[in-house]
Amino acid sequence: MTLDNICKEIKESKSIIILAHKDPDGDAIGSSLAMYLALKQINLNVDIVMPVYPRIYGFLPGATEIKKEGNSNNYDLAIALDCGDRGRLGDCIEYFDKANKTISIDHHGTNKMFADYNYVNPDSCATAQSLFVVLNFMGINITKEIAECLYAGILTDTGGFKYSSVTEETFEIAKELFSKGINIADISKKMLDTITKPQLLLTKIAIGRLEVLEDGKIAFTYITKNESEEVNAENGDYEGIVNYGRNLEGVEVSVFLRETDDGFKVSLRSNSYVDVSDVALIFGGGGHKKASGCLINTPLEDAKTALVKEIKRYL
Ligand code: 5GP
Ligand code: MN
Repeated sequence: MTLDNICKEIKESKSIIILAHKDPDGDAIGSSLAMYLALKQINLNVDIVMPVYPRIYGFLPGATEIKKEGNSNNYDLAIALDCGDRGRLGDCIEYFDKANKTISIDHHGTNKMFADYNYVNPDSCATAQSLFVVLNFMGINITKEIAECLYAGILTDTGGFKYSSVTEETFEIAKELFSKGINIADISKKMLDTITKPQLLLTKIAIGRLEVLEDGKIAFTYITKNESEEVNAENGDYEGIVNYGRNLEGVEVSVFLRETDDGFKVSLRSNSYVDVSDVALIFGGGGHKKASGCLINTPLEDAKTALVKEIKRYL
């Protein structure tokens, strides 16, 4: 059984590196920190590495121990969290490829099963929810600190317990985490209700140019690299922008593009019947039915035309 193997591999490893997807969100960071604190608890030699992460997550327990680089290039074990394919590891891919053994714990329906051991549950609302199961299986004591990290992950990926991915199990787990004494109002405020100044300015630009296409079923907007530079944007500052288009009455699919050095990073969201992970897969990306992404390296107009053409097929 995968969980037995994962548990055994972790406990037998002399050096472990914990990795998440690049541009990590609250689930990626929350899950990674929960795993880190858990492995520290059982005295394992573990590093958590993320070259950059949004500073709004800096309040999470263990965040000050996140390293920009690993200590070695040859870890016994690499654990990837919330990561659907190898490419999503970004600059950390080397640590993963050079590790003797690899584990992936994830919940993306498009997961490529790229590790030696894959614990992937697409029905799970967040990697943090799956991780709760793994940590209990391992006999980890869910401390208040670990509970905070797991709760942060679930909160992020469910938009505050709002999405259709939320199940009875989600609330059961949340109840257990709550019982550890976490301050849910404080975590919600910091994770969901706090925005940075650049984020506000970018949101203003994106809403200002938002257009609706295909009889109001597609919302489309973008941010250029120049605009990002003008407001001193960091990675987390694009969080939530795509939701404005999705929340517009009549819209089924919301598309948000942001220009990066590697091309346009695309965020896709749907409201009910379109599976946007199908669209993202066409462009080499992935994700979930109602939240997916990909990278398109063409001029803006071409990216827009190509995306709208594919989305139209599902409307
Ligand atoms: P976001 O739009 O918030 O960046 O991403 C939405 C969802 O799609 C997340 O679950 C994220 O992991 C996934 N995702 C975003 N971009 C990519 C990508 O380029 N490749 C893959 N495989 N998944 C992505
Ligand atoms: Mn996730």
